[in-house]
Amino acid sequence: KEQLVQVQPFVYKLPENTIQGQKVPVYFYLSDRLFEILEEDAIRQAANAATLPGVKKAIYVMPDVHVGYGFPVGGVMATDPEEGIISPGSVGYDINCGVRLIATNLTADMVYPVRRELMNEILKNVPAGVGSTGKIKLTKSQMEEVAVKGARWAVEQGFGFLEDLEHIESGGALPNADPSKVSKEAYERGSDELGTVGSGNHFVEVQVVDEIYDEDIAERLGLKLGQVCIMVHSGSRGFGHQVCVDYLKVAKDALKKYNIDIPDMQLACMPFNSPEGQAYFSAMNSAANYAFANRQILGFLTADTIRRFFGLSWKDLGYRLIYDLAHNIAKLEKHKIDGKVLKLVVHRKGATRAFPPFNPEVPPAYRELGQPVLIPGDVGRYSFLLVGQDRSMEISFGTACHGAGRLMSRSKAKEFVRREGLEKVLGDLVVVARGKGTVAEEIPQAYKDVSEVVRVVDSLGIAKLVLRLKPLGTLKG
Ligand code: 5GP
Ligand code: MN
Ligand code: MN
Repeated sequence: KEQLVQVQPFVYKLPENTIQGQKVPVYFYLSDRLFEILEEDAIRQAANAATLPGVKKAIYVMPDVHVGYGFPVGGVMATDPEEGIISPGSVGYDINCGVRLIATNLTADMVYPVRRELMNEILKNVPAGVGSTGKIKLTKSQMEEVAVKGARWAVEQGFGFLEDLEHIESGGALPNADPSKVSKEAYERGSDELGTVGSGNHFVEVQVVDEIYDEDIAERLGLKLGQVCIMVHSGSRGFGHQVCVDYLKVAKDALKKYNIDIPDMQLACMPFNSPEGQAYFSAMNSAANYAFANRQILGFLTADTIRRFFGLSWKDLGYRLIYDLAHNIAKLEKHKIDGKVLKLVVHRKGATRAFPPFNPEVPPAYRELGQPVLIPGDVGRYSFLLVGQDRSMEISFGTACHGAGRLMSRSKAKEFVRREGLEKVLGDLVVVARGKGTVAEEIPQAYKDVSEVVRVVDSLGIAKLVLRLKPLGTLKG
């Protein structure tokens, strides 16, 4: 930490060559308070990544940073597709973990008095919990279809509407998915987990818009104070996890073959432009598409439950997908470095794409506003909606934070709850889950203050704050 130099407000730099073989600098985007709690190991992990072959320009670390597997959560790394690597650990185990936000016509005063009953209904209808399985059982060939079609597959099965697809990152289906590059084990693990929330950090939350920072953009998004929304946070479940496990093995073997020297085995990687690298990329995109389908189903099941609970038609419910995004992914994108446009493999791990207005990859509905950036906070405080801004393309490869970020380990959080008592910690929050254990690990105190985190990306001009959401009730994985 002593080697970090503050170069301007919220920006700390670790110069290149601070550690041996470090090709590019690392920039950390932090407030004073977040700098204080920055872990030494997270700095080390980001510096290690800066030594990888073909890494370009800089490694960027977001204010919600914490230590991860090899590469920190909150990290952004871009590599050259010709000379550089792709790193499964720098995408993360939960491929295309991400967030979806759905608007409804309901208002808080309708939901608040019945929120406990409503959340219990959602608990009944939306499968959640570690290793939870759903009602959907898929054959291998159906899963291959999911891996190619992504969210569209779910819509074709009746989970949602065609216009949903226009409000999902990459239309809810990434190209370059090749289901033949996914292992038998992954297909087995994924066959009954589609449409399930997964473990504790994942959730389905009923929220209310409780503060607006940009009236104009909020209005153009069709969102106003008191309006009830649904937020979904989940990923590719056992399917994506197995893809990561499989290809970390492949990557470890590839190190020798391609003569790649790395400072930490968790950063095992392969040349992007090698059979191994391409196989991982194809399998990763397959898992990402599974995750898009998963959130499509979860959002629809939740909305349908709310609709039936209040006895409304779809039209009266006013179901409208605002956006769905990936925060664990590697994507081929064009970025400008020193005035030259380059194709890069952008790894975002616990980091959200935040493309500015008029970027061609922003869906037409939001082209003039900038891409919606969905930032969950925690089960008790707030979540935020921002839109991507121009500076993101200059200082973070078009990327913002992805959440508040963990502050306490799961065991520390449980200890805190044992000391204080769960009832007291949760107060009048409505949190439902299959098991009590996960809730203790997921208390608000276990996370950083998300307001502080989004203030950093807003101040830097990476993304602009539009509105704040407050939880009415949460289903925890
Ligand atoms: P991750 O992808 O790192 O597991 O989680 C993303 C973020 O979701 C976390 O950093 C945290 O800020 C946020 N989060 C975790 N649990 C909840 C929850 O129950 N409700 C809300 N709104 N946010 C949460
Ligand atoms: Mn996530
Ligand atoms: Mn996840």
